Amino acid sequence: MCVRRATCDVRSACYVRCTFGVLPVGAYNRKVLTETSQGLYCPDGDFFIDPWQPVPRALITHAHGDHARPGSAAYLCTPGTAALLRRRLGADTAIQAVAYGERITLGSAAISFHSAGHVLGSAQIRIEGRAGVWVAAGDYKRAADPTCDPFEPVSCDVFITESTFGLPIYRWDDTAAVMRDILGWWDGNREAQKCSVIFCYTLGKAQRLLAELARLTDRTVFVHGMMLGMIEAYREAGVDLPEVKPVIEKTEKTSRAKKASFAGELVLAPLSARGTPWMRRLGAISDAFASGLMRVRGVRRQRAYDRGFVISDHADWPGLLHTIHETGASRVLATHGYAEPLARHLQSLGLESGTIRTAWEGEGAGD
Ligand SMILES: [Zn+2]
Ligand SMILES: [Zn+2]
Repeated sequence: MCVRRATCDVRSACYVRCTFGVLPVGAYNRKVLTETSQGLYCPDGDFFIDPWQPVPRALITHAHGDHARPGSAAYLCTPGTAALLRRRLGADTAIQAVAYGERITLGSAAISFHSAGHVLGSAQIRIEGRAGVWVAAGDYKRAADPTCDPFEPVSCDVFITESTFGLPIYRWDDTAAVMRDILGWWDGNREAQKCSVIFCYTLGKAQRLLAELARLTDRTVFVHGMMLGMIEAYREAGVDLPEVKPVIEKTEKTSRAKKASFAGELVLAPLSARGTPWMRRLGAISDAFASGLMRVRGVRRQRAYDRGFVISDHADWPGLLHTIHETGASRVLATHGYAEPLARHLQSLGLESGTIRTAWEGEGAGD
């Protein structure tokens, strides 16, 4: 179905007339969501989605920093996201939680949140407005993740997809195979009396790695203190995670004369800890980065990690195309990362497609 039907004067030839090439969403007369300087805005419901500046009402797809910004008067999100947001934005933030699939009305728009499979609480936001059904997917992935609900395909007229890894080179391996690689690498480092350090995102990737590792081993994993808050939030939300120990605890419990040894241990740490004095207490290390970015050899070399583990909380190229097809959308708008290449590819398939600008290009975008 063509979303411009309502305004198109030659209805029979409408679809052909609509395939103009890469167009911003604002180029259309009737729209459920429109681009503004604060982010995506829904005129029918008078709210913003993942705004990057404070607004009266913000609907939040998930708790990552590039989607959930502080300062808005009221937030609407899923219960999982609400638990994480309260920690990030403060307990006194006005947050209303809406369960997956629950339908609410804002102005003349009907809204519902549907699982995006990205991190705990992550949601696609479905909006039924005067110009049809639009879905803003936020970040999403199709691979199974023991720490969050699986992605739910939602039919729509217009699909706003992320495109963080929107190039054909990005294809993920089976998660179980990656986890076996990680365990093998850890075993090798144990034999060499080295500490294994995996750098990863504090929200989502760390919890996923912990849950996946628990399927393979009952060894204790150490974490950087900065990771404890989000691990605790996941547990409070009912996600089953193995016991972890903070690095600092082991350091402090050991007497001053005898330095704590991390030889043979595995430590998860945020990217910001790399190269800081905190690293010194770990002794001899082998380090790795767990990210979709590690698919590209040049990036691995440039970042100079001993190992790169390709595991991502975003959809890979086949995952993006499969999802777009599944929504049945006649128009697709791409945002984050490789939006232009993905939009061009979709046009070559005969789909009407464009891009949406984001304020967060390149900033911690690829995990
Ligand atoms: Zn995200
Ligand atoms: Zn993102």
